[in-house]
Amino acid sequence: MKRREWVYVMSPSAYEMSCDLCNGEVEWSEFQGLVWCWRCLKDTRGNPGVFGGPIGIEACRLLGISFDRIHLKTGKRIKYNFHKTDLNTGESIKYNLKGVE
Ligand SMILES: [Zn+2]
Repeated sequence: MKRREWVYVMSPSAYEMSCDLCNGEVEWSEFQGLVWCWRCLKDTRGNPGVFGGPIGIEACRLLGISFDRIHLKTGKRIKYNFHKTDLNTGESIKYNLKGVE
């Protein structure tokens, strides 16, 4: 398992993610692609929430959901650039979900 280099600024529940084992609330795991469940006490894949399908980026923006990230080593905030996303084709950001580049 690879360690995360970054996490999203918001908690997994902000993206409607939950534990795929118990449906409980989860935090970002220290490992890429995983979340940590306090109830199951383990790293797990999690339910993907908004990452499960093409993301309505504009809708998320209007709802105040941020895809900005925190680089863990430097603590720097990496701004998600909404304008780089093609809103006409509905291009999703699925490729960089949950700490996987
Ligand atoms: Zn759980």
